[in-house]
Amino acid sequence: MIIALAGGVGGARLAQGLVQVLGPDKLGIVVNVGDDFEHLGLQISPDLDTVMYTLAGIHNAKLGWGRAHETWHFMETLEQLGGETWFRLGDRDLAVHVDRTRRIRAGETLSAITAGFCARLGIRHSVMPATDQRLRTRVLTDIGELDFQDYFVRRRCEPAVRGLRFEDAQSALPCAALGRLIAAERITGIVICPSNPWLSIAPIFAIGELSSLIDAHRVPVVAVSPIIAGKAVKGPASKIMHELVGGSDALSVVEYYGVRVDGWVIDAQDAALAGRVEAAGHRVRVTDTIMSSPERARQLAVDTLALFDELDAAE
Ligand code: GDP
Ligand code: CA
Repeated sequence: MIIALAGGVGGARLAQGLVQVLGPDKLGIVVNVGDDFEHLGLQISPDLDTVMYTLAGIHNAKLGWGRAHETWHFMETLEQLGGETWFRLGDRDLAVHVDRTRRIRAGETLSAITAGFCARLGIRHSVMPATDQRLRTRVLTDIGELDFQDYFVRRRCEPAVRGLRFEDAQSALPCAALGRLIAAERITGIVICPSNPWLSIAPIFAIGELSSLIDAHRVPVVAVSPIIAGKAVKGPASKIMHELVGGSDALSVVEYYGVRVDGWVIDAQDAALAGRVEAAGHRVRVTDTIMSSPERARQLAVDTLALFDELDAAE
């Protein structure tokens, strides 16, 4: 079984490609929960929802979050009442948060709730929160330490990032289904999706048992670069990369993940960097990594998975 590590939009796009290539018994998707928070009394899991909506084909491709054919009556009414409106919740989306919150309060785990929603939405693959326990990303910035969504949404990533802290990550355990896969040694490979390395993937790595699985080199790890020609396709990855490591291209991401990654997929626009990625000890594939359609996502998934065979053959 391959597991794919995903944040929101970049992770969801590659997940959409991978599910076209690997059956539900061959692929599980492990999703960041560092962005999760409580808002308006609701339990919100932005990355899980982006992955879930994308795999169900009901995501809002234009916004990059939330649902297609969304309406905003709740938000408009909240604004009229003078409520908090900095975090946008569409009417359809709202049902997920309301029901997730009800089920959490009734004692269900986030992974059981997610599995239930996914089944209802016709998703056959397992979508797992990295952990069922509380794990919160805190952003250390030039104006102080901020809650993740305060930094990301309310302040639009404007403060300069000095560091990140993944609260409660060390003691967090992988969610039960993922824990079982690890214990039974059923994981044969890990794909790191082209999600934001610092905001989306680092909180997953911060979970002790997951990092030891990877650091002990028990399974091959293949990653797709979220940085193309020195820029993020979407979001603040490139800004954060500048602030934290001073780098400006895919090589900075390669260096950041270091020996954790065996094989890299980089974009054709970065073909000139391939030699240096190889020199750093990785296998490299150069291909078109912009997933502008489900078909392109499928092709990138095929190319990414082919790296596992190359790594196998090289051993
Ligand atoms: P978020 O949680 O919604 O911010 O999303 P992620 O962390 O999963 O993804 C954000 C990253 O995805 C950004 O760094 C983007 O550059 C990257 N990304 C988005 N779409 C694509 C794509 O089509 N190809 C590649 N290679 N990266 C992408
Ligand atoms: Ca996210």
